[in-house]
Amino acid sequence: MDVAIVGAGYTGLWTAYYLAKADPSLQIAVLEREVIGFGASGRNGGWCSAIFPATLRKVAAGSSRDGARRMQLAMNATVGEIEKVVQGEGISCDFAPGGYVSVARNAAQWARAQAEVAGWRDWGFGEDHMQLMDAAQASERLNARGVRGGTFTPHCAALHPARLVRGLADVVRRLGVRVHEGTAVTEIVPGRARTAEGDVTAGVVVRATEGFTAQLLGQGRAVVPMYSLMVATARLSDGQWDEIGLRHRETFSDKRHLRIYGQRTADGRLAFGGRGAPYHLGSRVRPSFDLDPRVHGMLRRILRDLLPTVEGVPFTHAWGGNLGIPRDWYPSLSFDRTTGLAHAGGYVGDGVATANLAGRTLADLITGQKSDLVTLPWLARQSPKWEPEPLRWIGINAGTAVFAVADRTEARTGRPSRAAATFWKALGH
Ligand SMILES: Cc1cc2nc3c(=O)[nH]c(=O)nc-3n(C[C@H](O)[C@H](O)[C@H](O)COP(=O)(O)OP(=O)(O)OC[C@H]3O[C@@H](n4cnc5c(N)ncnc54)[C@H](O)[C@@H]3O)c2cc1C
Repeated sequence: MDVAIVGAGYTGLWTAYYLAKADPSLQIAVLEREVIGFGASGRNGGWCSAIFPATLRKVAAGSSRDGARRMQLAMNATVGEIEKVVQGEGISCDFAPGGYVSVARNAAQWARAQAEVAGWRDWGFGEDHMQLMDAAQASERLNARGVRGGTFTPHCAALHPARLVRGLADVVRRLGVRVHEGTAVTEIVPGRARTAEGDVTAGVVVRATEGFTAQLLGQGRAVVPMYSLMVATARLSDGQWDEIGLRHRETFSDKRHLRIYGQRTADGRLAFGGRGAPYHLGSRVRPSFDLDPRVHGMLRRILRDLLPTVEGVPFTHAWGGNLGIPRDWYPSLSFDRTTGLAHAGGYVGDGVATANLAGRTLADLITGQKSDLVTLPWLARQSPKWEPEPLRWIGINAGTAVFAVADRTEARTGRPSRAAATFWKALGH
């Protein structure tokens, strides 16, 4: 085997795709413990967005102003790259390049929207990257309750996450990649991915296990699994959609600290998710953590508050999954030609497009292409390890609580929360 890839999510499959395209003679295997798309890739909010989880300031601090700008431009281009492949390979995943609208619903959120757009201008990004909208413009896109204004970027598409990951797996199989489901890797060492049934030997082994990484031997403090949960409504009527907006299937959120995200699905539902679920001691991952009645109830309440039209509409689905957070909230990827070990991940909650950029870049690194991608700033760095327990548990859950309280206080008083600002600063934002 030339390349063994552990994990059949977007990272693993995009890496396989670009490798197989670049060099059809390569023998590539993808090893997946469960089924294709079992992880976040098969169950996310379907925002294919150009959001890079680390701020430009943080990226520039480790590289340069130009490096940070190039990183963002590469993310913007990635949304178009995914559209190109989806169309070219005939992957049916309801891809709709409608952009992303984020509304401000109190004075603190409005101040953040203005600061955000001013920040983009300082970095040389204009209206075509991010627009500030007044209340009328923002409501025209998303007729939410209490809108004071908002921001809009065209660099985002809505898609059906599971259809993308399964479609991608079909494509790579057609290209000759072998995808082995039900194959759990226990440890990755140079030249080998160890499984209970024996070792898979390969010149290059790629770790693409994101929120499950802590379960691999020796990786306990690399990336923590944080849970993000989602709900979906029954199909809405045309009249209800006329009231809500989202005519171009824009993805949407508001400017609260504890991230919420939604999309109008191709079959006319609202799929809506958010953070707020607890982190579990020891970076544990369990199927039962996907379903948290408190958080699902909170998401239904937030959506009804955001969009009054949803009052009385039944919620038909509830689910969740884990995403991978590195200690510095900065995704990373690496390839060491000497050991043959590679990895990509730590996308926080923004991995749909970032995983494509990672896959393209890993393919260039492994095949020795001297492309622009292999000079992007996220390559030449490594995230620090997380603290040992119980410090990790205390810090992460305290952060979630601070942001939840800050959102409630800002909604009541309109004043920006100092506690949340301090926490964001500690995270390097
Ligand atoms: C509810 C939710 C909503 C989200 N919404 C968005 C969004 O709207 N936009 C966005 O950009 N991002 C979103 N994200 C994040 C995004 O989905 C992820 O960043 C992205 O899918 C990560 O892809 P991946 O391939 O790296 O990891 P995963 O999709 O998690 O894939 C990892 C795979 O590795 C397998 N695996 C793990 N360990 C082993 C092992 N030891 N042996 C073999 N196989 C193993 C797993 O079973 C899994 O299939 C969301 C995440 C969640 C959970």
